[in-house]
Amino acid sequence: MSVLSLADVYRARRRIAGRVFHTPLVESQSLSEKAGTPVFLKLETVQPTGSFKLRGATNALARLAEQGCRKVVTASTGNHGRAVAHAARALGIDAMVCMSALVPANKVEAVRALGAQARIAGKSQDEAEHEALRLVREEGFAYVPPFDDLHVIAGQATIGLEIVEALPDVANIVVPLSGGGLFAGIAFAARGANRAIGLTGVTMSRGAAMHASLAAGRPVLVEEVETLADSLGGGIGLENRYTYALTRDLIDETVLLDEASIARGIVHAYEHERLVVEGAAAVGMAALLDGMLPAARIKRGPLVLIVTGANIDMEQHRRLVASASTQPSSHNAL
Ligand SMILES: *Cc1c(COP(=O)(O)O)cnc(C)c1O
Repeated sequence: MSVLSLADVYRARRRIAGRVFHTPLVESQSLSEKAGTPVFLKLETVQPTGSFKLRGATNALARLAEQGCRKVVTASTGNHGRAVAHAARALGIDAMVCMSALVPANKVEAVRALGAQARIAGKSQDEAEHEALRLVREEGFAYVPPFDDLHVIAGQATIGLEIVEALPDVANIVVPLSGGGLFAGIAFAARGANRAIGLTGVTMSRGAAMHASLAAGRPVLVEEVETLADSLGGGIGLENRYTYALTRDLIDETVLLDEASIARGIVHAYEHERLVVEGAAAVGMAALLDGMLPAARIKRGPLVLIVTGANIDMEQHRRLVASASTQPSSHNAL
């Protein structure tokens, strides 16, 4: 665990200050009532690119810029790609986002609108990634990984610092889990402040690479399937260097959710919290509403749910809210 230090996290906080928001931690009345313990939402949805990924990307890019690096590359078209593009523009360095020919035109346009170059390469995410790595080898770009990087992890860890400072008696933190950069960072910072804090990872039941890897005892591949929590898809890398071991050593339990539950989380956020959230950001609320968090854990005291991002397709969001209001369920009766 010595790979990361609390000093790295405080350095990250100084680097990203003024570029990334210190986000609100707000109590949810409806969830507190439901749980019988205070429940708080950490609102990363308000970050400039609509997700917490800006923290890690800004820390990694600011450090590269300090070292004189002028151009970075990534292969993510999702929240990490947006964050890299935004941070690069803010820091005055060039960003290239490699994507496959299958990526829809609106996503290509979104990357360009953020000031990054889009390079179309290959017919799969893998081939796009190959092109990114070629640019690193042959053209002097620096690669910015989405999670398995100490500076990215330290950036995400600043969320943990903000939580323990705002809520010193926090007993449990519930974190959406994919590659584990967010979990590892928050868990490291929170346990650094209080060794007794409970740490739960939540993800979807199908295609959850970190969960499968923890069960197997080593990083494994999983088949990627479509999910409402699209930001939680993707592998952790068979050559995973940091997030697998950190997550394994710090996690208390993993909770797996089906698609109906994730949908309920999205609808709850909208109806009861007045929040538009993407599927990946709704999993903490969904786990609590559907009774998936261990009762013993909830009893320990104040609970924080990380609401990680807002980048949902609005057409999909409208459909989910509309279908929930025509088929009332007990969950909407809070
Ligand atoms: C990336 C992402 C996550 C998961 O973060 P990891 O570091 O990959 O575990 C959760 N929610 C949203 C909205 C994300 O973009």
